[in-house]
Amino acid sequence: MKKSWLFAAVFACFTSQVFAEDVVVYSARAEQLVKPIIDAYKKETGVNIKLVSDKEGPLMERLRAEGRNSPADILLTVDAGNLWQASQMGLLKPVKSPVLEANVPAYLRDPKNEWYGLSIRARTIFYNTDKIKPGQLSSYADLADPKWKGKLCLRTSKKVYNQSLVGMMLAEMGPVQTEKVVKGWVNNLATKEFADDTKMLEAIAAGQCAVGIANTYYYGRLMEKSPKLPLGIFWADQAGKGTHVNISGAGVTKYAKNEKGALKFIEWLSSAKAQNMFADVNLEYPVNPKVKPAPEVAAWGNFKHNYINVANAGARQAEAVKLMDRAGYK
Ligand code: FE
Repeated sequence: MKKSWLFAAVFACFTSQVFAEDVVVYSARAEQLVKPIIDAYKKETGVNIKLVSDKEGPLMERLRAEGRNSPADILLTVDAGNLWQASQMGLLKPVKSPVLEANVPAYLRDPKNEWYGLSIRARTIFYNTDKIKPGQLSSYADLADPKWKGKLCLRTSKKVYNQSLVGMMLAEMGPVQTEKVVKGWVNNLATKEFADDTKMLEAIAAGQCAVGIANTYYYGRLMEKSPKLPLGIFWADQAGKGTHVNISGAGVTKYAKNEKGALKFIEWLSSAKAQNMFADVNLEYPVNPKVKPAPEVAAWGNFKHNYINVANAGARQAEAVKLMDRAGYK
């Protein structure tokens, strides 16, 4: 009797210890982009990463509903606007890490240390190379000029990517100038707003419009599939503040059971050996300045980033949504 009790206690201790080493990640990043990295981490460290994938909205709601009972140790998602939102909802916990401070530039992480960028995407201008010369292009604001009347395509303002872009513009140009620009965009639309970046890029290539704004990796995917498309990439605002960049990133959850393991995994993701794995699979840029992008991404050329902290995208999100609504940007 005593013996079996002892055995049960030892066994319970053993299983809870194994469980304690696992790291549970709630991820809104496409599962096929995260799986290979998790496998590589397990191979290197023996640590199990349990992945729960869903869209960011439901995942954040779930985290909030679970509260301190949540099994999640990490929230991984795209766009600083979403990470900022998670922080506002009280879902994340600040963590200080010299490793992350060294690997992630300050403008790509939360000033309160609740989340850290792990890959960079730029949201820039794309054009039909049969219709437009790059010399005709300059800035996001220039796309509001009447010379682009009937030539501009945009993705819907409902997508966080555009809310973040307009949020950054608000932080930099103020509400009056930003609203003028967004109204100008709406006046220049060739057709109604698109549901996603890929369809919008295809419309540019098909000649339905001449210019538009999209994330770099969508362009990368499309050109990989159809290299002959008459689509060019143009780095916006190089004479001004620089091209709008955003991140995918992660934070330790407020009620993480394995905070240490969570931080270790995030630190590993920012390291030189993991950064290419994490960024290249989605044709993104590494955040770690010591790591070079994949050759096919590097081929798009160097560009000046806008160095405004990406947290501004979130802080201005609500204001951006209202502004776009007033401007008639659907
Ligand atoms: Fe995307």
